[in-house]
Amino acid sequence: MNSNEIDIHKELKKYFGFGQFKGLQEQVVKSIITQNNTFVIMPTGGGKSLCYQLPALIKDGTAIVVSPLIALMKNQVDAIRSLSSENGIAHVLNSSLTKTEIAQVKKDIVSGITKLLYVAPESLTKEEYIQFLRSVPLSFVAIDEAHCISEWGHDFRPEYRNLRTIIKQLGDIPVIGLTATATPKVQEDILKNLDMVNANTFKASFNRPNLFYEVRTKTKNIESDIIRFIKQHKGKSGIIYCLSRKKVEEIAQVLQVNGISAVPYHAGLDAKTRAKHQDMFLMEDVDVVVATIAFGMGIDKPDVRFVIHHDIPKSLESYYQETGRAGRDGGEGHCLAYYSYKDVEKLEKFMSGKPVAEQEIGFALLQEVVAYAETSMSRRKFLLHYFGEEFDSETGEGADMDDNVRNPKKKVEAKDQVVK
Ligand code: ADP
Ligand code: MG
Repeated sequence: MNSNEIDIHKELKKYFGFGQFKGLQEQVVKSIITQNNTFVIMPTGGGKSLCYQLPALIKDGTAIVVSPLIALMKNQVDAIRSLSSENGIAHVLNSSLTKTEIAQVKKDIVSGITKLLYVAPESLTKEEYIQFLRSVPLSFVAIDEAHCISEWGHDFRPEYRNLRTIIKQLGDIPVIGLTATATPKVQEDILKNLDMVNANTFKASFNRPNLFYEVRTKTKNIESDIIRFIKQHKGKSGIIYCLSRKKVEEIAQVLQVNGISAVPYHAGLDAKTRAKHQDMFLMEDVDVVVATIAFGMGIDKPDVRFVIHHDIPKSLESYYQETGRAGRDGGEGHCLAYYSYKDVEKLEKFMSGKPVAEQEIGFALLQEVVAYAETSMSRRKFLLHYFGEEFDSETGEGADMDDNVRNPKKKVEAKDQVVK
């Protein structure tokens, strides 16, 4: 198909029912359609899936989509199938399939019905699959959550490291990397690892102007402070992140005793309880979920009004992801983190059992969190700078939405007076 002849707006409407592209989508879609290696950095919710789904639907051949989580793959396949009358338009290839199911997938690919084939990276290492995929027309390979390649990312997966070698065996096809991780270090890692330093790169802004950032010193009164905060946001939905399961249980109980409807969520609870608590939060049977970082992956509740960090996060990456669950609808989102240096030491101790290389990375990431917590400059500027983005703390969108800007520290005021 000649890419110049394709009206991508028409295709967008036809497949997805959307009248317009979001942000950089249009440029990305064009880059992929014209066979370029492409690198996409967009915050969560930015609309990365469509960037490769639309070209896959338009182009000849099957697109391979590498994704780390089976649950996410299933969701996407179901979503694509709902856009079409052809069930075979999208498939998952993984170890859970029976022989008959695998045969069906292969048949659909060979007959050209399948436009998107989702695979876990470990499945892609299977010689049998590589042999098969070499023999069929492929449009491109999309690597979703591409930060899994980097040890500097928050979700390193060793299997992702082999992807380039495998892709090379599949033939000379374009590679698309997509991630919501914006640190320059991770980006460099991804591009090097995928051997695509010259890829067309598209990076969206990570600024979330409707989020208010605040850091409070953690004291003995933290529990009553949190209770007061929640009571000031009566009836609003919020998430409280804690480092340990024990703390999650403790805080959930304290809140309940104080008349706040809250449930705990962590990996130590059985699957049924976790699902129940998550649903209660989504259905607004409770206002607050107290959770470890196990909570939140793929949670799409638009009106979360606050995210509280009872303990500091491991990295600014994680902080950005976790606070990013607030204010998805564009409305208010208060991000409050409690900070004490004792917690930093606790986290360091936590990490000291790990391999040295991992420890070093962990310490470096943690130091950035400390710097963020202790800074007296615009927190938004600090965060965005960490993501390689310049932010004008006077005129930028959301410039006054943090504690430091609203209430400049005394130190700064004193200096200002000296200047006068
Ligand atoms: P990401 O992978 O970047 O986190 P998703 O691909 O899951 O984001 O998309 C987030 C949401 O945005 C989805 O609900 C999707 O349907 C919606 N979306 C994507 N593109 C558009 C568009 N052009 N117009 C309207 N909604 C869109
Ligand atoms: Mg995504």
